Amino acid sequence: MVFAELLGQPKAVQLLSRALAGGRLAHAYLFIGPDGVGKATAARSMAAALFCREGTPSAPCRQCGGCRKFFSGNHPDFHHILPQGAVIKIDQVRELKKILSFPPLESGPRVILLEDVHTMRREAANSLLKLLEEPPPGNLLLLTADESEPLLPTILSRCQTVPFHPLPPAVAADILMRLDSGLDSGRARALAALTGGCPGKIRSLDAENLTRLFDESMNCLAAQAESEAEAIETALLMAVRTADIREGLETLLDLFLLFFKETMAAHLGRRPADPERSSMAPYVVRARERWNLDQLSDKMQAVEFAREALARNCNRQMVCEVLFLRLLTGDKPNPEPETPRRPHHIP
Ligand SMILES: [Zn+2]
Repeated sequence: MVFAELLGQPKAVQLLSRALAGGRLAHAYLFIGPDGVGKATAARSMAAALFCREGTPSAPCRQCGGCRKFFSGNHPDFHHILPQGAVIKIDQVRELKKILSFPPLESGPRVILLEDVHTMRREAANSLLKLLEEPPPGNLLLLTADESEPLLPTILSRCQTVPFHPLPPAVAADILMRLDSGLDSGRARALAALTGGCPGKIRSLDAENLTRLFDESMNCLAAQAESEAEAIETALLMAVRTADIREGLETLLDLFLLFFKETMAAHLGRRPADPERSSMAPYVVRARERWNLDQLSDKMQAVEFAREALARNCNRQMVCEVLFLRLLTGDKPNPEPETPRRPHHIP
């Protein structure tokens, strides 16, 4: 199947498969939808189908010259344009125009994947418009854009738009597990839920590192330190390692929140909202024994506080230190009713 890798987008698959099978392709498509739901995957699948010389329109053979070049990333008639920094620059569009002024190098079509066209400033977008109005024959333009960003109506009107949607949780979890074989189904579902059904958002994250850090944090939270000094030492150590991860700190914090919410639910005698999150279950049991509702609420506030501080671009190391100190220290084995604690200050 051409779109075997495009999961959870049945309408887009149907529309594009029909166009491919019938040989009735528009000259430009705009795949529009949230980040991380398969827009670029769809574009690559279309390109693969068009470059294959042996297979049927519904299945590239992966053996012929066209397939081999494309799948090894060396097809001379496939051009992939991404934002440079934050935007697609006008120079990139000019370069594309130059490429399109010559016929394709091989006998088949030329495919241009232009990702995140919503990042184009007006000047670049207007320059692209001319190409979309009269694309030279033999070229297929595949554009992707985030639906939440404004796009020039003139671009919209010159492309056939194909809407993409957030994925159902089970499909999103399946994709995450394909991307990271070390991810168990409970964790994958929790992560999928956190991405709001857009698993591609996690693609760039270091899922292995993230999962390991989460497990370590859970172990630290579950284990009662011998002394306050030891708890402080552990907290500072965890802070260093957590501040070190480049991407995914926000996701880690989301997982912490989820964990404390589940523990609260356990306190209140509620079943977890999502039984698939059972990978957290053993930690939840221990956490419920260790903390009362006030303390759990305080831990959640600590996580929220860290999230806000990160959003304000506070120093990551400091944010993590404050967070882990609040999470791992200051507990008494048999908690008395809490006196309000002064919030930690982050400069
Ligand atoms: Zn082929």
